Amino acid sequence: MFAGPQITRFAPSPTGEVHLGNARTALFNFLLARQSGGRFLLRIEDTDRERSKEEFVSALKRDLEWLGLGWDGATLRQSERGGEYQSAFAQLAKLGRIYPCYCSAQELEFSRRAQLASGRAPRYAGTCRELTSEQRAAQERAGRMAGWRFRVNAGEKIEFDDLVHGAQVFASEDIGDFIIQRADGTAAFFFSNAVDDAAMGITLVLRGDDHLANTPRQLMLLSALGRPAPRYAHVALINGMDGTPLSKRNGARSVAQLREEGYLAEAINNLLYRLGHASAEGELLTLEAMTQRLDARHFGRAPARFDVAQLQSWQKQAAHALPAERFAQWLGAVRPSHCDAQQLQHWFRAVQANTVLPADAAAWARVIDGPPPALDAVALEKVQAAGAAFYAAAAAAAREHGANWQAICKAAQAASGAKGANLYRPLRLALTGNEQGPDLGTFLLAMSAHEIQRRLQRFAI
Ligand code: GLU
Ligand code: ZN
Repeated sequence: MFAGPQITRFAPSPTGEVHLGNARTALFNFLLARQSGGRFLLRIEDTDRERSKEEFVSALKRDLEWLGLGWDGATLRQSERGGEYQSAFAQLAKLGRIYPCYCSAQELEFSRRAQLASGRAPRYAGTCRELTSEQRAAQERAGRMAGWRFRVNAGEKIEFDDLVHGAQVFASEDIGDFIIQRADGTAAFFFSNAVDDAAMGITLVLRGDDHLANTPRQLMLLSALGRPAPRYAHVALINGMDGTPLSKRNGARSVAQLREEGYLAEAINNLLYRLGHASAEGELLTLEAMTQRLDARHFGRAPARFDVAQLQSWQKQAAHALPAERFAQWLGAVRPSHCDAQQLQHWFRAVQANTVLPADAAAWARVIDGPPPALDAVALEKVQAAGAAFYAAAAAAAREHGANWQAICKAAQAASGAKGANLYRPLRLALTGNEQGPDLGTFLLAMSAHEIQRRLQRFAI
């Protein structure tokens, strides 16, 4: 797919928690770098001093590590790169490609509305483009702060080949002069983002297609600076179940929230791998397998749809596939308190297939610790239908053979002639309070013979 190793990056702004959209961008960039034998870099876009928070920087690193998306080399922080932006700024100034703009937010908004009202697409009207040095001096004397704008050349075509959207052509007429440095002296997004992509040697920028329309501006900047431009891949955004962009309102949760709820990194990665990337594989894939199989030609243009049921289904597969040791680790404090070490091992083995989230296992821990869940009238009837002799025989078998499911079944069957569901269902209900659940042969090994006997004996009279 790619001619050589690709240098990709994840460039989040630390203004909030990592959500699924961000995590998917990180995953795809990670996989494309690994697949091509390149590098995956991390850049923190923290030029917005007010909204950027240190806690979000550490949180996002933690999320990436937890997802298994480790990055190569040192983390770049835009807040530490003022010098770099200054020299790019000076270069553009020397070329006459930038000018100070004194327009206030209010004035800009007014002009925007006027353009919209007359049916035109809003763009900077060029108010400050041709100010004379006297006019500028007057503005400065009046104490007005200047942002700096890039002078977009008229009559240019900006073309690029987007990996997802194909050939793109933009006319420079449609793009107003845009801010590269804010009035407070910090570099604006288009500028720092493009300058750093070049400085870091990024060869492929994969990001959400909400950035597609930004790309011509960044290409103009790089071309004016004589710096190399990366290739771009703008993947479709993720929508919620209701077809509107994924947000808290329609089911989005942050990666940290999902982790706290007990979701596994494997489940999240597998879900994200399939959002906006057509993949034939229905099975749970490791990151290594994804690295081999990701096909950059299969990124979609239509919005992907986040579906809670899909997350649930990947989570189920991931939880069931955990090696025994990791399963126990993942459950943490969730375990019955009445088990010795050996019983505990049986319990883990018994409940794994019935666990999607730790809360499921917690319910099975309570069944062991007792008292067993109370039976409702319908269940009680089912239990009692088996008859007292049935339970007397089963309890006697438990007394004699211990936590031996086979022996218990055999004795109950011999005493009552019950078979199949008529044999298993009443026993399961009497022992666990549930009609369904883990394999009882294993589950009972986590219980004391005495407790098993006690639970059966309740119905023997
Ligand atoms: N900080 C930008 C964002 O989070 C980066 C966009 C990009 O990947 O270029 O949207
Ligand atoms: Zn202006």
